[in-house]
Amino acid sequence: MTKGGYPAATMPTLLVLLDIDGTLIRSTGHDDAALAAAWAELHGHQLDTDWSRYRTSTDRGIAREILGRKLGRAPTEDEIDAIERAVLRRYDADLKLEQVPGAARLVATLRALPGVGVALASGSFAATAQEKLRAARLHVAQVPAAFSDDHDERAGIIDAASARAAAEHGIDEFEIRVYVGDGVWDAAAARALGIGFVGVGSGERAEALRAAGAQRVIEDYADLGHALDSIFTAGILGLVP
Ligand SMILES: [Mg+2]
Repeated sequence: MTKGGYPAATMPTLLVLLDIDGTLIRSTGHDDAALAAAWAELHGHQLDTDWSRYRTSTDRGIAREILGRKLGRAPTEDEIDAIERAVLRRYDADLKLEQVPGAARLVATLRALPGVGVALASGSFAATAQEKLRAARLHVAQVPAAFSDDHDERAGIIDAASARAAAEHGIDEFEIRVYVGDGVWDAAAARALGIGFVGVGSGERAEALRAAGAQRVIEDYADLGHALDSIFTAGILGLVP
């Protein structure tokens, strides 16, 4: 069996894991406002939306941390679910969000490449993530995904998404993984897992992502070749100790 003239066994499998908010869609502004409104409504709590200040960078992990502090005990799953429902109420059916330029084409291109898997690994509540993707008209329902409902820690979400993508491809695991995200917490999760990381952002954010260890930083995916180049290169560099 050969693929492109090379024995198939020499072609490593690559999994590209994508954050959603700020990475595939421009949802961060609306999402932060929805979260803050939900916290104000349910707990009269002034939410600090600088996610780098929390122990985790996921909706559920942050809810557990804040509620734990407020209640002086571990919150129940029902108490955290109430936050998710309150956030969800802030998503109207007519909300429109922008895609990061080239996002849909990037996902479609990666999905079609042999030996390459794609998965979504988002710190968002699953239900609100679906609303945001719908509002941005980014159709990724077929793409394996994991959310903060799967794990409080982003690294755990990335691993859960990886396992689902491996199952889709009928393999035990991908040999190379690379995470694409817009937050310094995304870079930290990739570093903790020992995988490559592509930062998405410009200006000060790009600088912060570079400082956080991103092997490559891109502004968007409008230049598909450049985006693919950056993703593949970061994947390889992630293997270098
Ligand atoms: Mg993000």
